[in-house]
Amino acid sequence: MTAPIIRTRTELRAMTRSWRQAGETIGVVPTMGALHDGHLSLVGRAEEMSQRVIVTIFVNPKQFNNAQDLANYPRTEHEDARKLERFAVDAIYVPDGSQMYPDGFATNVSVAGLTDVLCGAHRPGHFDGVATVVAKLFLQTSADFAFFGEKDFQQLQVVRRMARDLDIPVQVVGCPTIREIDGLAMSSRNLLLSDQARSRAAALHEVMEQMAEALGRGAVISDLRPEAEARLAASGFGKIDYLEMRTLDGLALIDCATEPARLFAAAYMAGVRLIDNIEVPVPGS
Ligand code: AMP
Repeated sequence: MTAPIIRTRTELRAMTRSWRQAGETIGVVPTMGALHDGHLSLVGRAEEMSQRVIVTIFVNPKQFNNAQDLANYPRTEHEDARKLERFAVDAIYVPDGSQMYPDGFATNVSVAGLTDVLCGAHRPGHFDGVATVVAKLFLQTSADFAFFGEKDFQQLQVVRRMARDLDIPVQVVGCPTIREIDGLAMSSRNLLLSDQARSRAAALHEVMEQMAEALGRGAVISDLRPEAEARLAASGFGKIDYLEMRTLDGLALIDCATEPARLFAAAYMAGVRLIDNIEVPVPGS
């Protein structure tokens, strides 16, 4: 099915109003495009849970804290629309900057606490940009369900908090991370890696898996980190922004897996910032 591409809020509103009047539920999958199987898994879930599905594609300038990163971000609208043909998508919403941030736009949505750590600490303003655009997308689409990947676990928690705090009546659904065969988490940024860097990047997940397994046996993360960092460096990773274990809900830093936790990492491969996170089993469970 070829879904119509909608570029304005007015057209979108007319469409969603008619669906609402017919009593249909709406699911939204917010993306920045350059769609891969990770994004498509969210679309599949949206199709299962909602009668109408909107995929949004907007490379949100407010969530980039680096102009070069924004300029380099892949933009592949035509291919994206083609990849969505095999799903029951009812609309692809592709607003431009003036639809999202008209002249005089002055509002910022900021979620405190959760955004102080991990990517929030390393990318100032990033989560304000995310929370602002996602709040707008929730209101513009009047979605009942919104689908986000656990690949961006902190973002998922921030979006949940924002929707709850602002009383936006949307159910935020977290979906598992989809990986390449060698374990690398799928990401639009992987397109920016050379073949060599791409194959070396798989070390991130490999190292994290081994750490998570040791943590699940009761190891202390500070004992594991030096070797893990050395292995990442030997695989060609440059700067490591973080390699930390945190609790699920509050993202509190912990050293031992005494409660349900995840291991989080962000590291640069050939100048491309890659992030990942995986579950850590609670020892003895
Ligand atoms: P992005 O286009 O990178 O902003 O991602 C749009 C949505 O797709 C976000 O909810 C991401 O968490 C999700 N996503 C990105 N990569 C993956 C993946 N490998 N597996 C599952 N979801 C993903």
